[in-house]
Order: sequence, then C-alpha cells, then structure tokens
Amino acid sequence: MAAAPQAGTPRAVVVKRRPAGEPTPEDFEVRDIPMPVAEPGSVVTRTIWLSIDPYMRGRLREEQTYAVAVQVGEVMTGETVGVVIDSKHPGFAPGDIALGARGWATHLATPGERLVKLTPDAAPLSAYLGILGMPGTTAFAGVTEICKPQAGETFVVSAASGAVGSVAGQLAKRAGATVVGIAGGPDKCLWVQENLGFDACVDHRSLDLRRELEAACPKGIDCYFENVGGAVQAAVFDLLNPFARVAMCGMVSQYNDKTFPPGPNLGFVVGKRVLIQGFIVTDTPQRFTDWRAMAEPLVADGTLVYREDVIEGLENAPEALTGILTGRNFGKLLVRVSHGG
Ligand code: NDP
Repeated sequence: MAAAPQAGTPRAVVVKRRPAGEPTPEDFEVRDIPMPVAEPGSVVTRTIWLSIDPYMRGRLREEQTYAVAVQVGEVMTGETVGVVIDSKHPGFAPGDIALGARGWATHLATPGERLVKLTPDAAPLSAYLGILGMPGTTAFAGVTEICKPQAGETFVVSAASGAVGSVAGQLAKRAGATVVGIAGGPDKCLWVQENLGFDACVDHRSLDLRRELEAACPKGIDCYFENVGGAVQAAVFDLLNPFARVAMCGMVSQYNDKTFPPGPNLGFVVGKRVLIQGFIVTDTPQRFTDWRAMAEPLVADGTLVYREDVIEGLENAPEALTGILTGRNFGKLLVRVSHGG
C-alpha cells in the first residue's frame, strides 16, 4: 500500500455523481484545489486523519435525510483531525491540533468556533474520531439515555466490533448486564469476546441466526442497541422481553438500498410495552464534552478497548466508504491523509 503523502499540492475528493446502490470510486474524483486562506476568524488545517462513517452514504442521496445532502461537484463531507498551519482566530496558532474541520481534503479552512483544540499527548489523535469522538459519544448516548441497562439484564448490540457497537457493549458490561454482540464472521466475534469481554457473540452470517441468538440469550433480550436493521433486527425483535428498550441508532444494512424495505410488524411493541427510540448524537452537543471527560482516563488506562482500521491516502477514501457499508472494515475506519502533528 502506498505511503501517505506529506504536505504537497492541496487535493480534495469531490462527488462526481450520485451512487446508484453501493458507492464506487468512480462516483468520486480527486482534484487539485487552491491552498485555503485563513479569513478573519478562520483556521487552516492540514489534515492528518479523516473519519469514514456509515452516515456518509445518506449525505450522497438526492433526498435530504436528517442532514443536508452533499451536492454533485462539492467536496465530500467528513470529520478530520488536522494540524493548524495558518490562523486568524485568537484560539488557534500554527502547530495546534484541531478536531472538527470537515471535508475529504488535505487542507481545510474552518471558522475557529467550530473546532476543538486537542491536547496532543492525552490520547492518540485518531481516537478523537472514534472512541473519544462522535462514535463513542453515540454509544454513550444510546446506552445511558435510552437502553439504561441494569445488572442482570441481557443487552444485545449489532455491528458489535465497530466504532459505535464496541463502545456500547463495553458500557453495558460496566453497568452489569450480560452483553451479547452480533457481528459478521468468526474473527470479529472472537475479538468481541476476547478483547472487549462480551459474554457471547453471534455471527449474523450463520445459517440460523434466530436460533443461535436465542441460545445466546436464554432469558430473552432487555436492551437492544440497533446498528444494522434487516434480518438481524427481525431476529432480535422476536426475542425482546416485556418492557425492553431499543435504541435505534442506525440501520446500515439498508443504506445502499434505493427504496426502503417494508418494515416489520411492530404490533408486539404494545403488548410487551417496549420502548423504541431513535436518536441523533449531535442533538445534544454537551454529550461530546461529557463523554470525552469520562472516557479519556478509561482509554488511557486501557479499561475501554478500541480497534482501528487504517486506510492510507486520501485517494483511497471512496474505496473505504464502500467497505464500511459492506462490513470490510474491522474497527473504527480512518484514512491517514498525512503524517505527524
Ligand atoms: P462500524 O464501524 O460498525 O461499521 C459498519 C458495520 O456495519 C460493518 O463493519 C458491518 O459489521 C456492519 N454491516 C454492514 N452491512 C451490514 C449488513 N448488511 N448486515 C449486518 N451488518 C452490516 O460503523 P459505526 O460504528 O460507525 O456505525 C454503526 C451504526 O451507527 C451505523 O448504523 C451508523 O449509521 C450509526 N450511527 C448513528 C449515529 C446517530 O447519531 N444515530 C451516529 C453514528 C453512527 P459486521 O461485519 O459485523 O456486520
């Protein structure tokens, strides 16, 4: 694999056309761009890390989801960690590390108030796009505000080895629940049990998912952290206990679909008094600071475990996006755009 370039001609990945189904590299184009200039109040960063996340597929749709779509010809959106190379904002100086500039680009200009200054030695910088960033905060919100697992309950999380699922399961474990992951393939399931300490893990590719899940959850399911939808959702919903809570975080299995499949019959929600709640992590900005303050020491001392899957080079970001929508990533997916701090 090619080494990630250092600073050079500024480049960006632009949306060339809207993907039909699974995104492909041909839907994007890498272009040279002018070096961004710091206007009053703004900060120019050189990107070190670019986060690749499932929500990006929604931004490529014509119709607007809960967030604004990226238009054809625009630079693709995505969160980055970068080093400040120019600043006309009093809070940032060249050499500072900044979280929050958005775009698949080697260099970005951003209003300073949208950036968070990171302490370089508190944790690896990439962690602020994963366990200490948006995905970790998402897990924190869904587990503590919706699922609220109790000691002795059974907590199930899908996409269990991923950026969100891996943290959600660890938090439920800390609350005393029995934690069952659902993941794609034996390697991911093994890692979830051996490295994250989940009590069991079911491979969603197995021939009889429903039966295996039932065997792993003999007392039924009290909390479900939903990341994938589809056949996994159907199997889990069958096993929900009365008064179960479901955090509807995402349904990645259908993000490439042109039309959404007909939903399950949710009649059981009434008889079992099940609480199902959708949430978007950015609705409560304070969550991000609360989670970072709580998680930083737990990551530093190894109590919370995370895994990263690093793709080298901005030009490989489109391929990375295709992979996260089909389960090729194993852990928080990141693109290393350049080296250093
Ligand atoms: P992950 O790192 O978990 O990567 C996505 C994973 O989804 C893949 O690795 C794969 O894991 C699984 N997957 C993909 N396709 C399928 C399929 N057809 N059936 C079953 N599993 C599939 O991503 P994140 O942790 O970043 O995101 C997890 C979920 O959280 C997504 O749905 C995302 O949209 C959502 N999210 C929601 C937020 C909110 O505010 N509500 C914020 C952030 C994320 P495997 O191989 O194990 O199947």
